[in-house]
This record gives sequence, C-alpha cells and structure tokens, in this order.
Amino acid sequence: MKLPPGISERDFSQATDRMRDIVGKDWLFTSDEDVLLYRDAYSPFLGEPEEYIPSGAVAPNSVEQVQEIVRIANRFKLPLWPVSAGRNLGYGGSAPRLSGTLVLDLKRMNRVLEVNEKLAYAVLEPGVSYFELYRYLREHKLKVWLDCPDPGWGSVIGNALEHGLGSTPYRDHFDAHCGMEVVLANGELMRTGMGALPNAPTWNTFKYGFGPFISAIFGQSNFGIVTKMGMHLMPEPEAAQSVSISVPRREDLIPFVDIMAELTNRRIVDCLWEIASPILQSRDPEVSSLLAKSDFTVLDVENLGRAKSLGYWGTRLWFYGPPKIIDANWGYVQERLALIPGATFALADRFTFPLADPSLAKDDPMTVPNGDALRLSALGIPNMSVFALGAAMRQHGHIFFSPVIPMSAQDLFKAEEVFRGAFKTLGIPWFGLQPFAWYRRNFILLFIFPITEEVSANKVLRANLAKLIRIAADNGWSEYRAPLVLMDDVMNTMSFNHFALPRFLEKIKDAVDPNGILAPGKSGIWPKSLRKVRP
Ligand code: ADP
Repeated sequence: MKLPPGISERDFSQATDRMRDIVGKDWLFTSDEDVLLYRDAYSPFLGEPEEYIPSGAVAPNSVEQVQEIVRIANRFKLPLWPVSAGRNLGYGGSAPRLSGTLVLDLKRMNRVLEVNEKLAYAVLEPGVSYFELYRYLREHKLKVWLDCPDPGWGSVIGNALEHGLGSTPYRDHFDAHCGMEVVLANGELMRTGMGALPNAPTWNTFKYGFGPFISAIFGQSNFGIVTKMGMHLMPEPEAAQSVSISVPRREDLIPFVDIMAELTNRRIVDCLWEIASPILQSRDPEVSSLLAKSDFTVLDVENLGRAKSLGYWGTRLWFYGPPKIIDANWGYVQERLALIPGATFALADRFTFPLADPSLAKDDPMTVPNGDALRLSALGIPNMSVFALGAAMRQHGHIFFSPVIPMSAQDLFKAEEVFRGAFKTLGIPWFGLQPFAWYRRNFILLFIFPITEEVSANKVLRANLAKLIRIAADNGWSEYRAPLVLMDDVMNTMSFNHFALPRFLEKIKDAVDPNGILAPGKSGIWPKSLRKVRP
C-alpha cells in the first residue's frame, strides 16, 4: 500500500478505522483489489513505480458523513481526493495527484434533489451521472434537456467542476451551474451565491449572489468538496436540425472563421462546432495517394477536392428551437457564408420532440452504432459510443493535450505551423489540428495521444507533452484543463509578474486548508508542507 508522505501506518489505520465507523464497514476500501478500481486505467505511468496510486477510498452517503470524514482527515493530516463519479478518463480517472491520498468517493450520494421544469434547472448530489439524470427526466416526463459530454457515465457535478463541455447551447457546463453547497477543509458547510441566504428561492436561479462570485474558486481546485449543485437545463426545443457546410480553398478558412466567429458571438450559431477538412480526412484512395506524394501542392488538393465534391474545410452545426426560427437562422447563416465562392450547404437530420422514434433514445451503448455519439449527445442523450472509437483503434488508453487559441484563422494557421514543427522536432507523426468551438471566441485544439503498455513509449510521451506545454506557452497559449501528470507543468507557465496568480492560489490554499488535506497538487496547487520552490 502507498501511504501519503509523513503518515505512519498506525495513523493511517487509526484514521481509516474512525472513518469506517462513520460510513459502515462496506464503504471503506483498502484492499489491493479494491484500490485497483480507483487507479487511473489510462495512467501514463502504467507499470512504473511513479504511478499515482491512492491508499484506499471512503464512500460516504451524506453531507454529515463527508463533514465527519474531513474532520478525521484533519486530525491525522490524511489527504483526501474527492471524486464524484471518478470517470475523468484521459485526465487521471479517479486517481489522486499525490500517491497515498485517500479517494473520497461521492458516487453513493446520487440523489436528484429537485428539478424545476418551469425555470429549467436541477439540484443534484455529486454522484448523479448523466445517465441517472437523463433517466430521471424521462421517467418524470419533464420537458427539459441536459447537456452531456461523451461519454455519459461521468457525473454532472464532476464534469462541471472540471470545466467539461458538451454540444448544445448549454455546452459550457461550469457556466451552466448555479449555486453550490461545499464542505470546506475544516468540515464546515457553506452555500455559495444566494444559497448563503437561508431559504432563498433564488439559490439555483441567480448565480452570483451578493459580493464576490466565490463558486468560481471551487472549479479545477482543491479548496472544498462540493456536495450539492444547481444546474441550468435547456427547455426542450420543438426541433433540432443538423446541417453541414464546406468551403473549397485553404485560404477560405480566413473568411469562414471570421463569419462563424461573429455568428457564434451573436448566438445565431449556438452549438459545438468543429473545423474539419473533408478532403484531408477523406479515405478516398485517390486522395490518399495524392497526400502520400512528397511534392503535392495546396492547389492539387483543392482541385481534387472540387472533383470529388469534398471541401477543403467543413463543419457541422445544430440548430435548436421552433422550426421557423431554425429555418430563419439557417437561412441567415447560408446568406452570410455564401459570400465565400464555392461554399456548399446541406441539410442533414431533423428531429422533432418529444422524439417519435424511441429507438433513437436508447442509451444502451451496444445498440448505438459507431459514430452516432455526436448525434446522441447533440440531442441531450447520454451514451457510451465514443468508446467504440478507442476500441477500433486498439488503444490501451489516451491522454489529452488541449491548448486554447483565439477563434481566428490567422491563429489556426500559426498553431498549425508551431505544432507541426514541434511534432517534427519531437518525432511525433503529425495528425493535423482538431479545432473545436466549444467556447465562444476561442478554439480548443484537442490533441489525443495514445497511452500504450510500453513503459519506454509512455516515458517519451510524458516528456513530449511537457515540452508541448512549454512550446504552447512560449506562443501565449495554455490549456483549458490538464491531466494529473501535467498539472504542475501548466501551472508553472503562469508566470506573469513573478507567478502572481499561482502565489495567490497558494495563499488561498494555506488560509482555507492549513493542514493541506484537500486534493494536494490538484491544478498544481500544493499545500505549504509539500510545496516546491517555483522555477
Ligand atoms: P466525472 O464525473 O467526469 O467522473 P470525476 O468525478 O472524476 O469526474 O471528477 C473530476 C475531478 O473533479 C476530480 O478528479 C476532482 O478533482 C474534481 N471533483 C469531482 N467531484 C468533486 C467534488 N464533489 N468536489 C470537489 N472536487 C470534485
């Protein structure tokens, strides 16, 4: 068993004995086979002694039990790593950053406390998964949608706290949250926003409350344990329409992104969209043989694209609402983008709600054909089909590198040049950019690297990822979220004015958690006793 630094076996067993008394003997786990379940299945340290491994886990069933556990943890200075569903794969799963930390598994606290259909919000406990909330909404025939990421087994609260994302107008999950209940590091219970006012009916409708908007500091942090959260939901639309757009030339990216950015900021387009390249991503044999040549030109690609009716760039959008508003928005989007010569527009699926075809609503992963994940998520239906992609690629796991750049074609071209060059220097095969417009005004460039069972390859990958973070930072770009292994690397790039921001976060940490018991190392924020000197 791995114990946290400075904790003796005796203290550990005394602390866990007391916690067992609180939660019952079935809900405190320290055996190797139980701990295995809390290890990161996609760990980039697979088979290496440095793997981040918890000492065990404790699974409370109530806020009072969480408070008691936190008090015991303080007494013994035993660090806790809260997880809601613990499915944060690609970012660390349920594993802690510091080996020996005890996982505080909140999965048992999975009650949907309230859904207000009229004002379209839910109040949830941390263990509620997207599947569970979806089932609740359907069983109660409530005309509200959740917005889910892929896959749907994670928790609504854990994903929102990690700044996770989905695909509908409610895709920014942290932005959609409203009002938290938090167990602080000293065991005290606090409510944020209007929740600070006893019995306020606006706790889950008005986010800011009075004074500083303090909920923000509990996202991607280690300042508290969230035990309840309000979540704004989308009123069920009358219809959803999927469309696709393409433009023929590489240089068209400039007006295309300019117009799309404006339409997105005006919320005429209000969905996740991605910049794809129908021609470069085509599996057509003629395209593959052209791209395999060493001397093909952009013009060759554009000409072949024209011949094959494949755009150089393309995207897919979803519109939601009454059909006449969908048609008006789509008409306006076409009018604007038609300024680009050769732009093409196509209507794809249209669904009306409530869904007439119940088979579409099935959330059984086995019945969802590969590739439909996007469609289901866009319709607010949690699913697991994204895993079919990993299985098809026969990967052991993956890890994300996800820098954020401004939403402009000039920045995309620059990022392409910078990262293509970096990949070449680092000996990584270039697989192109995958820019996602999750947030308005920005693209997230999602790079997904495979984790293998080969120790040497994982070592190289870790070193390469650290270098990519540095290269990105040298160009002014950082990530929206980072896996455990890279959290320090990312925080160490935040160096404006002698690391003023990381130092401020450490001050908060020391003030609210003097014993350093909450998630040491989360987002590169370490308690005093474990802090290293900044570079
Ligand atoms: P998911 O719901 O996607 O499975 P996790 O439960 O793994 O996500 O949570 C992701 C991360 O968010 C955790 O590693 C932890 O750092 C943080 N987190 C999750 N739930 C809570 C919570 N209730 N309170 C504080 N932090 C949390």
